Amino acid sequence: MGDLGTVDPAIYQTIQAEKRRQIDGLEMIASENYTSAAVMEAVGSCLTNKYAEGYPGRRYYGGCENVDVVEELAIARAKTLFGGEHVNVQPHSGSQANQAVYLTALAPGDVVLGLDLAHGGHLTHGMKLNISGKLYAFVSYGVTRDSQRIDFDQVARLAREHRPKLIVAGASAYPREIPHGKFAEIAREVGARLFVDMAHYAGLVAAKLHDDPVPVADFVTSTTHKTLRGPRAGIVICRGESAKDLDRSVFPGLQGGPLMHVIAGKAVCFAEALRPEFRQYARAVIDNAKVLADCLSGGGLRLVSGGTDNHLMLVDVTPLGLGGKIAEATLDHCGITVNKNMIPYDERKPADPSGIRIGTPALTTRGMGPDQMRQIGEWILRALRHPDDASVIAGIRSAVRELCANFRVPGVSG
Ligand SMILES: *Cc1c(COP(=O)(O)O)cnc(C)c1O
Repeated sequence: MGDLGTVDPAIYQTIQAEKRRQIDGLEMIASENYTSAAVMEAVGSCLTNKYAEGYPGRRYYGGCENVDVVEELAIARAKTLFGGEHVNVQPHSGSQANQAVYLTALAPGDVVLGLDLAHGGHLTHGMKLNISGKLYAFVSYGVTRDSQRIDFDQVARLAREHRPKLIVAGASAYPREIPHGKFAEIAREVGARLFVDMAHYAGLVAAKLHDDPVPVADFVTSTTHKTLRGPRAGIVICRGESAKDLDRSVFPGLQGGPLMHVIAGKAVCFAEALRPEFRQYARAVIDNAKVLADCLSGGGLRLVSGGTDNHLMLVDVTPLGLGGKIAEATLDHCGITVNKNMIPYDERKPADPSGIRIGTPALTTRGMGPDQMRQIGEWILRALRHPDDASVIAGIRSAVRELCANFRVPGVSG
């Protein structure tokens, strides 16, 4: 036991309990992952002590010679990984990265086109209670009823009708590859700028297994903690012409001192994502998702859009006679963590929607492959067919524990 156990036993013990939870359960929330021990070491370092308002070489505090190196390395590696003329690595989160883009590209009241939250969009894409929805006039596009893929006829029609300043592409619950070029074409036609929020699939873009938004978008943001597998944070990539304005939007526009320990973690994550093993990892994430999706649809569940191209699937659980809320709770009792989720054209309420969202990034990081996906798919089906049968659920729970014992969680030991 280190210092924490004596200084603050309550927090120490809760962290121990969380370690057990992470080791003993199957993490299938599509936006989560296990970052490496190296990233955690950087995030847990003495860099947390340093104030560094400003940018490398232009700080408002002395003693920044080391953190300048850290931030310059993070920027250089992000540019190597994603290309792009300018990168800002200071946003504390994906949401703040998005706010920085809005602050740069828009004035309050400007019209913006974004994906409907109920069709897979993110709350920073214009939800009423989010600052994006309060400050800007968002108009939503969605997916078609039949293919359940983005309705580009609708995007074009809404763009011509509303003449948005900015078109937002990217999603949090969309199981298909997003063709960014189609958005770029529409944006060009109506004189809008294109902003792609690749928070969910940045790891697949880094591995060159997903259409790359950087060449066609004016702004690209990402979280670094989802498929990219780094620390919890955000980044912005933009064209050189917007560099100055964007930097000013992040600091002093939205933030004070950057989290230099987290920026160090981002630098480590970018270096890891540049290695050939990361490409293999991303390939395995997609392969695992396909195997799991086939297994679930073979067992009678309906997949939104009929399947997946990426790291996640949206599963309509109503064919088994239950809703997303019970499905989430039932799987939770089995040690399988997912989240309830609206499906397009959902007839149920957001608090108990028709679907669950399932992702493979975290389990793939643990080294699980197609055999484990088939096994887990069977458990999910059995649990959802018998949500009230305590002995079925208990049996799956112990089998899950046994499986987990064979797959290490990087950087987390009980
Ligand atoms: C996760 C996510 C974000 C926000 O990230 P936070 O770090 O949670 O603020 C933004 N956009 C999309 C599309 C996301 O999926």
